[in-house]
Amino acid sequence: MADTQIIPVPLLNVEPPAGTPGPGSALLGTDIEADLRQQLLLTKVDSVLTWARRSSLWPAMFGLACCAIEMIATANARYDIARFGAEVFRASPRQADLMIVAGTVTWKMAPAVRRIYLQMADPKWVISMGSCSNIGGPFAHGYSTLPGVNNVVPVDVYVPGCPPRPESLLSGLMLLQDVMKEEGVSGARGRPEPDGDFSTMLPEGDPIRRELESLFPPYLSLNGEPRDPKTGALPHDTNYQSLSGAL
Ligand code: SF4
Repeated sequence: MADTQIIPVPLLNVEPPAGTPGPGSALLGTDIEADLRQQLLLTKVDSVLTWARRSSLWPAMFGLACCAIEMIATANARYDIARFGAEVFRASPRQADLMIVAGTVTWKMAPAVRRIYLQMADPKWVISMGSCSNIGGPFAHGYSTLPGVNNVVPVDVYVPGCPPRPESLLSGLMLLQDVMKEEGVSGARGRPEPDGDFSTMLPEGDPIRRELESLFPPYLSLNGEPRDPKTGALPHDTNYQSLSGAL
């Protein structure tokens, strides 16, 4: 160890004050405390991760009716949803973490909406955009329309209007960012989960009711058969059965 030399290396690329003597004086002559104040940022991991999440929401790309036109306008240059980091509309729900339900949710479409939600990456959030999605809108109490999308997916923020303007959707997005900030990375979600009980809305044996109920826990098949506990496959699903055999 006799060959070991200690060579002073300037940690910060700052010129020493004039007149500072000796080699290595760049380090000695630096006001480290002032430099650290200018170049270091201290925060909590929770705050950074939550900031990153709420500033990079990826919405699922789908629309159901006229409200979708306003949602599309929100992504255009005039309103520029990119200012909030939410411009990356994904064609695959597996790459999306924000569902904007923009338009009338009919009973026929409800299982598809629920399926898209289930396929989205966790953690995920839902904005209900417009009166139709919120409570059925002008079609409320009709035979064909869901009385609120909250019956099939948990809603974080409701945006009122028929249709809401792009500014309203952006307000809803900012509200959602506030909600995410409050929840933090591991915080409990404040939104109520739908219970999957459609007995007061659809008659017994209704095919859409059976399909919807199969998309809620315990995720039985349309015939009431249980799924494979490992793969989630239904008994008649031969593709998944072969996968199940491989596991
Ligand atoms: S709320 Fe109004 S604008 Fe939006 S989908 Fe319903 S009818 Fe159309």
